Amino acid sequence: MIAIAFGSNLGDRAGNIIAGANQLVADGAVKLLAISSLYETEPVGCKDQPDFLNATAIIATELPPLALLDACLAVEKQLGRVRTLRWGPRVLDIDILVYHDLQMNDERLTLPHPRLPERGFVLAPLAEIAPNTPVWQGLTVLELLTALQDDCAVRLHRKLLLQGGEIKLG
Ligand code: ATP
Ligand code: MG
Ligand code: MG
Repeated sequence: MIAIAFGSNLGDRAGNIIAGANQLVADGAVKLLAISSLYETEPVGCKDQPDFLNATAIIATELPPLALLDACLAVEKQLGRVRTLRWGPRVLDIDILVYHDLQMNDERLTLPHPRLPERGFVLAPLAEIAPNTPVWQGLTVLELLTALQDDCAVRLHRKLLLQGGEIKLG
């Protein structure tokens, strides 16, 4: 399984995530296999910023990991992301969560995503579409989510639909 995560807390948050996912597909190298609902979450780290919408997707791609990262970063840029503060507000963040069972620690890419097991805003949406997939030291998404104490700030926001390979608001 290759899984990615979307987050937005500026402008039309749902629209940014939907446009970003569809742009990734339109660029030609990524197919969407499943998309979670949108979840609303309070910001982690730098608290003085708007709440986030988050979602996750399972994808298929022939791109190797670093090329997939480049594709994700290119879409963030196309959607107008400007990098300011680390963990600051953003139009769109696209992270790679897992790339099959690959472990890597390149200066540009760490897999699995190093903060995966501590993030309810990633595990809750991923549990919708891949509850029983092992993603971290043999533990499944559901096992990681269950072990997490503070997922209470993650609220189901809206459904997303995957129709003909494209995402729409449910
Ligand atoms: P976090 O990693 O805590 O979610 P972030 O997504 O806000 O933080 P960014 O500013 O989007 O961080 O990305 C900073 C850099 O992180 C990227 O340029 C990329 O090289 C690197 N990076 C390392 N591992 C990953 C990964 N698994 N997915 C996406 N980016 C990664
Ligand atoms: Mg991120
Ligand atoms: Mg990122």
